[in-house]
Amino acid sequence: MSWITAATRILLLIALAALLGWWYGSTLAAVAVALACLVSFWIFQLRTVQLWLRDPRQAPPDVFGIWGDLVAQIYLYQRKNTEEQQKLQLTVDYLQDSFGSMRDGVVMVDGQGIIKWFNSAAERVLGLRYPDDIGQTLTNLVREPEFNAYFLGNDYDSPLQYSSLGESTRHIRLEITRFGTDARLLFVRDVSAAVRTEEIRRDLVGNISHELRTPLTVISGYLGTFLSDVDTFPAPYRKALGQMSQQAERMETLLRDLLWLSRIESEEQQSKLDRIDMCSLVEELRDEMVATGAPQPLELQLESDHKVQGDYRELYSAISNLVGNAVKYSADNSPVTISWRRLDDGYHLAVKDAGVGIDALHLPRLTERFYRVDDSRNSATGGTGLGLAIVKHIAAAHGARLEIESTLGEGSSFSLVFPLGG
Ligand code: ADP
Repeated sequence: MSWITAATRILLLIALAALLGWWYGSTLAAVAVALACLVSFWIFQLRTVQLWLRDPRQAPPDVFGIWGDLVAQIYLYQRKNTEEQQKLQLTVDYLQDSFGSMRDGVVMVDGQGIIKWFNSAAERVLGLRYPDDIGQTLTNLVREPEFNAYFLGNDYDSPLQYSSLGESTRHIRLEITRFGTDARLLFVRDVSAAVRTEEIRRDLVGNISHELRTPLTVISGYLGTFLSDVDTFPAPYRKALGQMSQQAERMETLLRDLLWLSRIESEEQQSKLDRIDMCSLVEELRDEMVATGAPQPLELQLESDHKVQGDYRELYSAISNLVGNAVKYSADNSPVTISWRRLDDGYHLAVKDAGVGIDALHLPRLTERFYRVDDSRNSATGGTGLGLAIVKHIAAAHGARLEIESTLGEGSSFSLVFPLGG
């Protein structure tokens, strides 16, 4: 029923009452009685609707006229709403079920840092208790300074890996993503087993390299003695001795690189406190290259006096690897440029050469251990394939990244990019 019909009915009622009143000689009284009845009827209807609205799960009441229409409309909206809510609840249940069955811990936290939900893996990894901890502030329950600093720091671009010192040390990896209005979803995983395997691998490589050094020194020593008197050997042996010595030298370089890599890997967590003057580091490196007789002209472009927080030996090793490569992989007279400057995205230490360059297809894998663009190129230059792995590692330990640009046949540019705030 439309409101016009309802209004028409009221007007008709008043007109009828007025007519009857006029007939019996009391128009006003008749209209007043009619209005009083109408108001009472409406109050009664209103009360019925209100009682129903207090508990809308009951069946809708029998009300008349426009009230009936209103109740029908409300009832319809309510049913729709309930259906939507049920659907939403099903989705939430489904999501919680799937998060619940995950081996990673999942915690949902609202904008105020209050725990809304977590799965059983999160109980194990973070030590939360269900259901007591729902509604509690997460940072009051997880009392790990690194965890809390990361959670409150609001910078979740890269995940956090931290050690939790309980009865036994556990290594935990934490990733946080935002959703909704500042709510956060935390994924936590106990990576202790992987970290331990990595430690064993690192120790093994370190120990083997160390143990191999002594016999190799002995072999190299004897080879050196033989070679110093090579003319006393028959001709076929001379060539063999030369090759043996060359290969022994390569092995020595390889072991040196492996040992260095395992050392910097184990020192990764240590803080790098010195402020390193990159200009003097680069100048020292240039002097060393000149002293060792690098055939290429080395040009320096030092445009920033920014000092990097870090470890001098490590940075020196990284940059000397890059310069060493630039020299190795370019022609004798083509220049190598080392620059240090501030750009919009950070401080760049770039080593540029106009050498052989690298095909784009190799670039993504270049920093893998032992990855080589071309084996023949490497055996000619005596490379180990570990240099860039070392550079990448040192960069990461200093909060920097390694950027590589190269065009085959035109040259390459390797840059260590340090953050502006570092
Ligand atoms: P290596 O000790 O063999 O040089 P790296 O890890 O330093 O090992 O380099 C990996 C590979 O990347 C090398 O085999 C080489 O082919 C390529 N490469 C590195 N630097 C350059 C460069 N400046 N120009 C051309 N190729 C390069």
